[in-house]
Amino acid sequence: MRRKSTISKEDKIIVCQLAYDWCVQNLSKSKFHPGYPKLYKRSKQTTSLLKGYYKEAKNLIAVYLDNNTTALDICETVIHEWKHYQQDIVIMYDKYETVYKRKGNNHPYEISAENYAKRHAANCLDWIQTKLKS
Ligand SMILES: [Zn+2]
Repeated sequence: MRRKSTISKEDKIIVCQLAYDWCVQNLSKSKFHPGYPKLYKRSKQTTSLLKGYYKEAKNLIAVYLDNNTTALDICETVIHEWKHYQQDIVIMYDKYETVYKRKGNNHPYEISAENYAKRHAANCLDWIQTKLKS
């Protein structure tokens, strides 16, 4: 499974689950939730190219497999949403939106989630590849 190549739906499901397992083992738990987030592997989001989301009220991470092309994409998406699981989403995310009027790419929580994903995704994928070989 090469880093930049498109992978099959079956492989995406496997990679998504392993990326989540890697997060459980290697990343910090949230201070705002007693348990780990649930993982939903969904097919596609037709109205946008959204790769995934974190739903705070249900403590769940959803990944739109069809909107993630490579194994690395999936790792980045799962880790990005894991960061949102760690963040104080309820209080601070809304506060930033209303007080600072920042959204999307300028939102401090999005920037930190993006950086977190970029920092960890390669390690996560290396672990997955080792796991799949054994
Ligand atoms: Zn985000």
